[in-house]
Order: sequence, then C-alpha cells, then structure tokens
Amino acid sequence: MTFHIITIFPRIFDSYFNESIIKRAQAGGQAKIKIYNLRDWTTDRHKTVDDVPYGGGAGMVMKIEPLYKALKDITTPQIRGARGVKNQKIILLSAKGKRWTQQLAQKHSKLEDMVLICGRYEGVDERISKLIDEEISIGDYVLTGGEIGALAIVDSITRLIPGVLGNRESLKDESHTEPGVLEYPQYTRPEVFEIEGKKYRVPKVLLSGDHKKIEDWRKSKMKRIKK
Ligand code: SAM
Repeated sequence: MTFHIITIFPRIFDSYFNESIIKRAQAGGQAKIKIYNLRDWTTDRHKTVDDVPYGGGAGMVMKIEPLYKALKDITTPQIRGARGVKNQKIILLSAKGKRWTQQLAQKHSKLEDMVLICGRYEGVDERISKLIDEEISIGDYVLTGGEIGALAIVDSITRLIPGVLGNRESLKDESHTEPGVLEYPQYTRPEVFEIEGKKYRVPKVLLSGDHKKIEDWRKSKMKRIKK
C-alpha cells in the first residue's frame, strides 16, 4: 500500500516513520510512504499556500490552487471522475470529519493507495470537497494541523497489512478489533513488584501453565464499553 502525504511541514514525519514497525514495513515493501511539500505547487516568490477568509474573520485559509495542482500531479489520472487506480482514497484530515476507528483502519487497509491532505491554519477552502473522497477526524478536539492525524492513520493501517506484524495472533484480541471490546490486562517479569512497600503480584492463573484456564481468565477480563 502506498501512502501519499501532502503537508507544509514534511520534516514532521522523518523521525516517526523511520522507527520500529513502520520502518520495517517500508523496508519489507508492505508500505510505501511518500511525503510532498505543498509549497512545491505554488508559483509566487513566497510560496504562499494560505490567504484571508472571504467574509472576514480570524486566521487564514489554505488555498485551493496548490492543493488542486498537487492532487493532479500525485493522483493523475486517478483524480475524481477519471480514476486509474480503483483502489485509492483521497482523504482530508479535518476536525469536522468522520471519526477514525479501528473498523475504518481495517477497511482502509485493503486499499492500494491513499492520499492524506494535512490542513493547517483555520482549515482548507471548502471547494476541496470536490476533490476528496472523505474527511477524517481523529477525535473531538482541534489540532494545529493534520499531520498528527496522518501519522495516526498511517500507523493504524500499516500494522494491519499482512506480513507487517511478526505474529498476526497479536491482532486477534486487540482492543477495538471487535467494536467496544478492550483487551485483557498484560503482565511481564518480575512476578512480584513492590511500590511504596506494597507488593503487587502477577495473577496466579498466568503462572499456572494451564492454557485453557489462562484463555478463560483473559476472556473474563476483556471489557466491553458502550459505543
Ligand atoms: N477551524 C477548524 C475547525 O474549527 O474545524 C480547525 C482547523 S485546525 C486549527 C487546522 C487543521 O488541523 C485542520 O484543517 C485539519 O487538517 C487538522 N485537524 C485539526 N483537528 C483535527 C482532528 N481532530 N482530526 C484531524 N485533523 C485535525
């Protein structure tokens, strides 16, 4: 799967995408991540990507022209109406969008190609809606920019791509795989850990070696939350 990220802060992604599982997924060819600097599609000396809002008001708005040009270059001829890559989605990160969930991550992990547009300032000229497939929010709060959302989406999808995680079993009981179901508690060594004079032990059943009992205990400890 290829992720294309459009941003005005390309360096934000350097560190996170070059560590751990995401780094391995790229090295193993399961994920390709391409970062684009939106300013490369500006024509003026100052590489302007924003302008004042029509109707007045606080802040600046991201201009549509550089985004249109960037999308045309990155996705042509896949841009709306003339798709070449069937299995592609163009997504705008937005506080107003549909909430990102594990179920959406699972669904989108089947795509071949995903374009993620990171907004900044007060957001993007509304005419972007004519060029995208979805607006996605990563939660009911306002971030300074869409980059953290893009990181969250790429990360949550990449670990679901077959071959990325060494042990696919680890995905089975994970929180949110089934909507509203949270994973059981996990422990590792030491068996007894002391905090402020009080000893905290690993539940006995986990030391029993009885796989059936352990499975039953884990099932009993999985929580259900209301969705
Ligand atoms: N004025 C906008 C509003 O009230 O909805 C918020 C703009 S925010 C300061 C700038 C950019 O950050 C947005 O265009 C979007 O790309 C990104 N962003 C902010 N909150 C987000 C969220 N919860 N999920 C995804 N992206 C978000």
